[in-house]
Amino acid sequence: MGKQEDFVLRALEERDVRFVRLWFTDVLGYLKSVAVAPQELEGAFSEGIGFDGSAIEGLARVTEADMLLQPDPSTFQILPWRGESPATARMFCDITMPDGSASYADPRFVLKRTLSMAAEKGFTFYTHPEIEFYLFNGRPGSGEEPVPVDRSGFFDHTAQSMGSDFRREAITMLESMGISVEFSHHEGGPGQQEIDLRYADALSTADNVMTFRTVVREVALSQGIWATFMPKPFTTHPGSGMHTHVSLFEGDRNAFFEAGAEYQLSKTARHFIAGLLRHAPEISVVTNQWVNSYKRLIGGGEAPSYVSWGHNNRSAMVRVPMYKPNKGQSTRIEVRSLDAAANPYLAFATILGAGMKGLEEEYELPRETEDDVWSLTDAERRALGLEQLPLTLKEAIVVAEESELLADTLGEHVYDFFLRNKRAEWEAYRGQVSAYERDQMLSTL
Ligand code: GLU
Ligand code: MG
Ligand code: MG
Repeated sequence: MGKQEDFVLRALEERDVRFVRLWFTDVLGYLKSVAVAPQELEGAFSEGIGFDGSAIEGLARVTEADMLLQPDPSTFQILPWRGESPATARMFCDITMPDGSASYADPRFVLKRTLSMAAEKGFTFYTHPEIEFYLFNGRPGSGEEPVPVDRSGFFDHTAQSMGSDFRREAITMLESMGISVEFSHHEGGPGQQEIDLRYADALSTADNVMTFRTVVREVALSQGIWATFMPKPFTTHPGSGMHTHVSLFEGDRNAFFEAGAEYQLSKTARHFIAGLLRHAPEISVVTNQWVNSYKRLIGGGEAPSYVSWGHNNRSAMVRVPMYKPNKGQSTRIEVRSLDAAANPYLAFATILGAGMKGLEEEYELPRETEDDVWSLTDAERRALGLEQLPLTLKEAIVVAEESELLADTLGEHVYDFFLRNKRAEWEAYRGQVSAYERDQMLSTL
């Protein structure tokens, strides 16, 4: 038993923990949980806890249903919304096969494998997500237009606003679970909020995103409101993105920084961005995985729709923030396509995979786009060589089906399952007749 395991076993007694929730994530990014009694933990650390993987989306083929959860003691935290004594705790788990080998279907493993590939080349991958979401007055019924909790806009400060009370409570809860928050504000849409997590290594951040979604939903429920990470809940208001700032470090040194270079971006950073741009359409099915995701990438609302990069250009897919020009260590790039309903493990893995490919193959970085790409004409965009991101989930699936990079990064099992699932989603959607169509046609044709 290692030091961290000992710490957890002691904490179970000291904090009067009655239940330990073992958390893991399915391929689509839904959080799963099995509660065990504290007495089971010692065994869980040494042998894992068995469960039937066939019940979980994308996890196992029926023939290999028996799987094990291996709790990661470094992720032990008390769940603040479950009360203090007795308390409930949680740990994230790795999923293994009965022989102890990693399960290829575990999204956490997909990210770990990509991180070790980068580590072999000397790099650690850091991420810092800006998570946006909407708050509604209660859970909208089927077919109903949701009612936002306020009518405020970007950075608005209103006295006694629902949003700021909500953010204060959510942030307090996140911090009590060891998740630091850097920044929070009202976003552009009515009832829309943003909370930015402090940068950390990508595995911790992905775990933190999963915790974040749970905390935000719990706090909303406790206040009688409803939170959603749906990428585009309204036709006429901006969507919810998860812009993610990324950087590579070599030891203590930020490998994206080069003093004196243009925008202080090193060669490593330039190749990395080039990889992200070239492979963006292929990984779109992961970074923007739902039918609804593509309604956010429609042009405008500060969400990208073209493959482009620029400094301080908010229409670009990759933006180089310039507000701390003298702080080399904070050099980073912002990936703006990602949305808040992605599986963070798979999304960070594919972003890293695409960037590393650019680095290995020394892709050349195309010219930056200085214009607002939404305001250009199609002809101007063509002249600039601006490729469009997939317009629909269907288009994203078609490019993903040809992608070696995606298959390599996700591994065969997740790649096959994921695409099968997305094809089924598209098939279920494409026959749906919408209110828009009825409004347009019923009374005139
Ligand atoms: N809500 C916008 C999006 O969906 C981002 C707004 C911003 O933070 O710039 O990407
Ligand atoms: Mg924002
Ligand atoms: Mg941003």
